[in-house]
Amino acid sequence: MDKKLLEILACPVCKGPLLYRKGEQELVCKADRLAFHIENDIPVMLANEARAIPAEEEI
Ligand SMILES: [Zn+2]
Repeated sequence: MDKKLLEILACPVCKGPLLYRKGEQELVCKADRLAFHIENDIPVMLANEARAIPAEEEI
C-alpha cells in the first residue's frame, strides 16, 4: 500500500493514527480496537465494516 496514502489516513471513529498490517491487509486503530480491511489496495474506512479486535488479540 502507498505510504503517502497511509500517512493521510486516520481512524474514522477517533481520527487517530492507524497501524498497517501488511500480512492481514488491514489498518488497525489501537484506541478503538478496530481493523479496517484493505481491498485491492483501497482501505474500507467504514466503522460498520470494520472488524472488532478481540481483547485477547495482540495489536
Ligand atoms: Zn480509532
